[in-house]
This record gives sequence, structure tokens and C-alpha cells, in this order.
Amino acid sequence: ASLDRIAAVDGGVHAFLHVAADDAIAAAADVDSRRASGEKLGPLAGVPIAIKDVLVTEGMPTTAGSRILEGWIPPYDATTVRLVREAGMVPLGKTNMDEFAMGSSTEHSAFGATHNPWALDRIPGGSGGGSAAAVAAFEAPIALGSDTGGSIRQPAHVTGTVGVKPTYGAVSRYGAIAMASSLDQIGPVSRTVLDAALLHDIIGKHDHHDSTSLRDRWPSMAEAVRTADVDGLRIGVIRQLDGEGFQQGVLDSFHAALDLLEGAGAHIVEVNTPNFEYAISAYYLIMPAEASSNLAKFDSVRFGLRVTPEGGGTVEDVMSATRDAGFGSEVKRRIILGTYALSAGYYDAYYGSAQKVRTLVQRDFDAAFAHVDVLASPTAPTTAFKLGEKLSDPMAMYLNDIATIPANLAGVPGISLPAGLAAEDGLPVGIQFLAPARADARLYTVGAALE
Ligand code: GLN
Repeated sequence: ASLDRIAAVDGGVHAFLHVAADDAIAAAADVDSRRASGEKLGPLAGVPIAIKDVLVTEGMPTTAGSRILEGWIPPYDATTVRLVREAGMVPLGKTNMDEFAMGSSTEHSAFGATHNPWALDRIPGGSGGGSAAAVAAFEAPIALGSDTGGSIRQPAHVTGTVGVKPTYGAVSRYGAIAMASSLDQIGPVSRTVLDAALLHDIIGKHDHHDSTSLRDRWPSMAEAVRTADVDGLRIGVIRQLDGEGFQQGVLDSFHAALDLLEGAGAHIVEVNTPNFEYAISAYYLIMPAEASSNLAKFDSVRFGLRVTPEGGGTVEDVMSATRDAGFGSEVKRRIILGTYALSAGYYDAYYGSAQKVRTLVQRDFDAAFAHVDVLASPTAPTTAFKLGEKLSDPMAMYLNDIATIPANLAGVPGISLPAGLAAEDGLPVGIQFLAPARADARLYTVGAALE
């Protein structure tokens, strides 16, 4: 049914970069035979899943939305991909994304934009617009995404889906093509909170291939959904993310959702996070710095594309020509920014200062969580904007992540779930909840209470 649906609508949506139809049918048959032979499989066995193209997949093309990886077939599976296969899930293929996960609209994909299924002239969010659109368009019941500054949660917001960024280290990053290693986290994209929880339970495991992987014994997220009790829960509304710069319909849906939770017994209080206003500035130094280092491996020798200048040239000439042809303009912009921020003489002023701001943001979270159980905000300032609207203005694009970036800087978990439609344009709005590190289960309880 998923493959039929993809064939019917993906021409317009363009959620997928690669559809692995034959592999999917073979994998589904394999699940049947595992069942027939008596293997006990979990609740998502046999369920198709779409995979963001940032995760490497054995035998299946993986591009991270970049020409520089066009034609590359990875020799192994990312840990998250291995875990979903072991759970009997059926990978459908790879979903579109901003090149190397840099963007908020999926327009920076080297392979063309994805369209929002709610209105095809609108963006599906980014960088994981393909995964969110695939789920929203009923092409896949569930998907995997990655979130470095909001790339799971903001696409969920604009497509009326559920997206979760787990605690940093809760899910393995092994085989996730790195953007900014201290911020990246893999997580579920789904239509319901329970679906996300079931997938979280599958992928949230320690992995010795990832040195930042936590060794925690996690409670069942699916069990947290079944609790769905918010009586007495203290919810802190982030003052800095509840007013200026936010669309009226977004704020109205957000407050309507809070009213529902208050009706269910939650206490709503206002919380001050004075350093959040500097989070975007800090992020756009730390993230490009790490990305400039991570992307150095795309050197024309190890992976994918190789462009030889006319008449040949040195190894350095080949590398330069390959990177010139293989990387898009947003990726180049960030490599230059990051290289500059890390260079001798500027390091203390830029990268060093940004790391100090990161600590201040973490302290804002610590201070807030001394008084409340979860924090709440709209997931993003506006509903889905038109394709092309912000493409030529990087600053306007970066501001989409004002509400999502603080969680990545602090490593805390976050969820975005549907909070209704904005009155002025009828487009989906997401509400975001953030919890202390390791309290991911709490997000599922709140989410389930609202759903
Ligand atoms: N939109 C943000 C950026 O462009 C976040 C991307 C992400 O989370 N991968 O960096």
C-alpha cells in the first residue's frame, strides 16, 4: 500500500530520493518467514519506514542531499537502520533533505525541493522535509529523521506530524553522516505519539560504535504514552518564545493546547530564559565550525564524486574542483564560516564566545527545570511559508529555528506535536515540549495527554 501511495503522489510531493521497492517487498516477505518460524517480533514488525538520506544504508544509495555523494552505495547500515531492520520494520527508501542537513525548508537539496502535502506550493520544513512529508502524505506510516537544530521538530510543525529529538546520546549516531557532532541526534517522525514512542524504544539503545552513546537503562516510551496523566505536572511557558516574531495563529493554537492541558490538571507557569535570544548566534558559529571539520572527508578520494580539471592537475586541484562542483552554496557558506570561526586569531572571539553562550543556555535550562517538569513553546514562529520565499535570505531562513535550537545546545530532548491549524491560513501548527536530559519519557506522557 505504501509503494502504491508513493507511486500515486510522490511525483507532486517529492519526499523520496530513492524508493527501494524490490528491497521492501523482499524485506516484508522476510518478516513473514521470521514470524512463521516462530520468532517473536515487536509491535512494529512488518511496518514500512522511510529513512532520511543522512543515514547510511547497506546497498542503498545515500547522498545526504548532496551531489558530492551521488552514486555512492554504503557498505554498511547505520546502527538505527540495523535496529529497525532487526525489529522487522521494512525500509521503503531514502527521503529528501537539505544538503548535509543544512536548512529549514528542504530547498537546499541538490535534487530539488520537497513539497508540503498540505499545500504543494509550501515548504515541508527542513532539513528533514522528506521524512515529514512522506508521513504527512501517507506514503509511509513512520520515518527516521535527524535533528541538529530542529530538523525533526520544525518539519513536524509545518506538516502536522509528530517529531522527537531524543536526549543527546540516547540514540546512536553511528552511520549518520555528521553535520555537527555535538548537536546531532537521530529520532522518530510519525503521525501519532504512540508510534513515535514505539520507534524510540527500538532505536534508543547503547551502541559501542558511538563514543557519546549513553549506557542508560531507559524506561519504555510506549509505557509512558499509556500513562498520559498530566495532573499536577508543572509546564513552564518560555516567555522569550511566546509573542514578538510569532504568527498570531501559531500563538493562538499554542495557547489553546495549553488550555487543554490546564483542563487536565497541569499547572501552567511563565518561565524566563534570558540567554535563549543568543542561541541562534551561538549555534551558527558552533554548528559551521563542526561541519567544516566533518565535511573535510569529502575530498574526492574517499567517497562519491571526483572531478578532474581539464588537462589534469595535482591531488589538490582535483579536490578543489570536486568540492566546487559537489557542494551547494549553503554548504560552502557554512564551511567558510566555520573555517573562519576556527582560525587562529579568531577562535577565542567567535568559537570560544559561542561555547560560553552555550553554557549560559544550558544554565537557563537548569534554572527552569528546578521549578517545572517540562517547558513549552510553539515549535516555530510561522506556519509553512511559500517555496522560494526565504531562499535568498539566509538570516530569514535561520530564524525558523529560534525555538528549536536551544534544546540541541543543551542536549535536552524535545517533541513537536500537532496543536491544530492556524486560523489565518488553515495550515498546521506544532507545539513543542522540552524536558531535562534523560527525561524523554515525560515528553511522551505530555504528548499523549494532548493527543
Ligand atoms: N535548520 C537548521 C540548520 O539549518 C537545523 C538543521 C538540522 O537540524 N539539521 O542548521
